[in-house]
Amino acid sequence: MKYLKFKNNSEEVAIGKMVCIGRNYAAHAKELGNEVPEFPIIFLKPASNVIFSGESVIHPKYSNELHHEVELVLYIGEDVKNATDEEAEKAIHGYTIGLDMTLRDLQNEFRKKGDPWTLAKCFDTAAVLGEVVLKKDYSLKGSEKISLSVNGTVRQNSSIANMIFSPVEIVKYISQRMTLEKGDLIFTGTPEGVSKVVPGDKIQAELENIGTILTQVKFA
Ligand code: ZN
Repeated sequence: MKYLKFKNNSEEVAIGKMVCIGRNYAAHAKELGNEVPEFPIIFLKPASNVIFSGESVIHPKYSNELHHEVELVLYIGEDVKNATDEEAEKAIHGYTIGLDMTLRDLQNEFRKKGDPWTLAKCFDTAAVLGEVVLKKDYSLKGSEKISLSVNGTVRQNSSIANMIFSPVEIVKYISQRMTLEKGDLIFTGTPEGVSKVVPGDKIQAELENIGTILTQVKFA
């Protein structure tokens, strides 16, 4: 079992399901040749995929195109189902920064065949997390800068203001389909600039006022 890391909080919370949003920034949907969706695109990652800032991403040998995706991650702190706007906002107890590491070559192949993305999105170390900042310590403005660099070169540089679906809309939508529980995390999608990383690369990511991630890519 994996447990969350918090800033200023010693509570032990096991990580539940990780629900991820695809194509939540128009410029990123465009760079991968996709339409901007009418509803959020949803996929899952298991908690066993989690590592934390400072640990290494292990590059699977069966892929030649490992991509970084830097994202705002919502921490769900209470159970919620069929949420109203108010309930959705209340269920979000904090925020962190996350990397949704993706095997783009596998994903493209699955997309062509109409197969699930599961194995492109789920592998050990495919979810890199920072520390969760609770709302009592910081209230999200919605205009925080989000960026990622590889070996010191900026690759992703945007603002969470560019998200198509807001955190409240995302929590409402997911909670109409499945109950969200304390310990669940929601990856809210990545801005444009996703690119390939190889073993030896050092990734540094930052979400303004929330946190940073430092990791490097390695072969097993
Ligand atoms: Zn993503």
